[in-house]
Amino acid sequence: MVEQLVVEDGECKGVITQTGARYMAKSVVITTGTFLRGEIILGELKYSSGPNNQQPSIKLSEHLEELGFDLVRFKTGTPPRVDSGSIDYSKTEIQPGDDIPRAFSYETTKFITDQLPCWLTHTNAHTHQLIDDNLHRSPMYSGMIKGTGPRYCPSIEDKVVRFNDKPRHQIFLEPEGRNTREVYVQGLSTSLPEDVQRKILATIPGLEKAQLMRAGYAIEYDAIVPTQLWPTLETKKVQKLIYSRPN
Ligand SMILES: Cc1cc2nc3c(=O)[nH]c(=O)nc-3n(C[C@H](O)[C@H](O)[C@H](O)COP(=O)(O)OP(=O)(O)OC[C@H]3O[C@@H](n4cnc5c(N)ncnc54)[C@H](O)[C@@H]3O)c2cc1C
Repeated sequence: MVEQLVVEDGECKGVITQTGARYMAKSVVITTGTFLRGEIILGELKYSSGPNNQQPSIKLSEHLEELGFDLVRFKTGTPPRVDSGSIDYSKTEIQPGDDIPRAFSYETTKFITDQLPCWLTHTNAHTHQLIDDNLHRSPMYSGMIKGTGPRYCPSIEDKVVRFNDKPRHQIFLEPEGRNTREVYVQGLSTSLPEDVQRKILATIPGLEKAQLMRAGYAIEYDAIVPTQLWPTLETKKVQKLIYSRPN
């Protein structure tokens, strides 16, 4: 865990870890994701944490402030994960992968041919009513979450409030991998309390008996205010220090 940067003559020359080790470098790239002073928020529960209960990076945040950087608070969220064995796929619509798959990278030359499909289902009036009835328990609406989203990726409670004329929202059931039973309930990102998440799942066709494996949550974290960066992402204050945050 990096806690400090070695800065000499306005240049970043390395890092110092929690255990006191010094790693010297020609330049340092900070890519701390959502770990910087991370806090998980789930209903009325709020605690210091990186994503998935990993260790948050607190000292580095403090050190960046000591160096004179202005930090901003961002937030993002994730949906619940459910057990694939508890889903009734017959009530959902199969969403196979592309016939001709395309890679993100030009370096990819080989594709796995037996793609796992995703499955489509939808929220409905019951889901939306349940969310409306529990909005007072949503940290987004109670004021507990103060950070802004760095990109447009709304929670289900946000979609229900903003688009209250829509009778349903799409929910894609995405397998997390070949060697896990966890299914990512895409479209159902939420920070509502766990008991409400269970009730929401039960209103969705195919998920009536879904077993919750991990609850969804929101996470707030620090980021360097981007006006302190050159277009190269090098910081203006400290040379050879590069900062890149997740979208
Ligand atoms: C709850 C949640 C929901 C998300 N939903 C989406 C989504 O729907 N779509 C999407 O595209 N992206 C989503 N993301 C974001 C996605 O995870 C990130 O875009 C992506 O992982 C960012 O990659 P990264 O390499 O910047 O950071 P990460 O993958 O988070 O990696 C950061 C790494 O830095 C390490 N680290 C942090 N601090 C220190 C330190 N001080 N010293 C040493 N190591 C440190 C961490 O251990 C970690 O390995 C979500 C993230 C979260 C947390």
